[in-house]
Amino acid sequence: MSVHRVRVPELAARLVLGPQEVRHLQVMRLRPGDRVQVFDGRGGEALADIAELEDGRAVLTLDLDAGAEDGAGDLGRETPQPVTLAVALLKGDKLADVVRAATELGVARIQLLVTAHADAREIGAQKLVRLRRVAEEAARQSRRRVVPEVQGPLPLARLTWEGRLVVAHPGAEARLPDLLDWAAPLTVLSGPEGGFSETEIAGLLARGAVPVTLGPRILRAETAPLAMLGAVVATGV
Ligand code: SAM
Repeated sequence: MSVHRVRVPELAARLVLGPQEVRHLQVMRLRPGDRVQVFDGRGGEALADIAELEDGRAVLTLDLDAGAEDGAGDLGRETPQPVTLAVALLKGDKLADVVRAATELGVARIQLLVTAHADAREIGAQKLVRLRRVAEEAARQSRRRVVPEVQGPLPLARLTWEGRLVVAHPGAEARLPDLLDWAAPLTVLSGPEGGFSETEIAGLLARGAVPVTLGPRILRAETAPLAMLGAVVATGV
């Protein structure tokens, strides 16, 4: 059976957990003496023993010398270069599904964007907190050491990137798998339900973005980012 994973704020020899993590341990029916794997969301991971577990309080003692010993090796589940998903705000609860799946698919960062056809009113402080929780839970589930940062909405014109930016654009000719070389970080960008405006696409291309096709069918705005990330992970990274 695999070792249970717990997100902790930092790796220290002795850790006192907050109520949310305590509830989680109790739901998993863990007991004092059980061993868990802890991760700090920034790449740090270690094994720990539950020293105390009672209502509202849990204390873990960390075996900092043991390492994670789960077969992943040093940051073995992260892509060779960080992948950022830049995605326009979507209506309703669709972003939660995108954040969950994008985390499983290995992104290092998710940048939310306001575009001509994506309304900033689609997101508030509470929704952002929820999306960050979704990323944390998905990272735990998919046994990643890194929890992707979910960054609050930015106007598309203020999006900056390192390395290459590829934008999903129906009718484009280039294909994402042909562009992957891992010499530099990668950002994949996908539009809102109404697509990008012509001005937005022209602005992105003028700044060096590369448009890519996701095939001859029009994908829903919540499917397109996952198709891009699917093409990335299909290379085996
Ligand atoms: N009428 C819009 C258009 O033609 O751009 C459709 C928008 S689509 C529902 C939402 C987003 O998904 C698009 O802005 C684009 O980023 C991406 N997308 C959907 N299908 C695509 C395809 N076949 N190739 C490339 N990008 C696609």
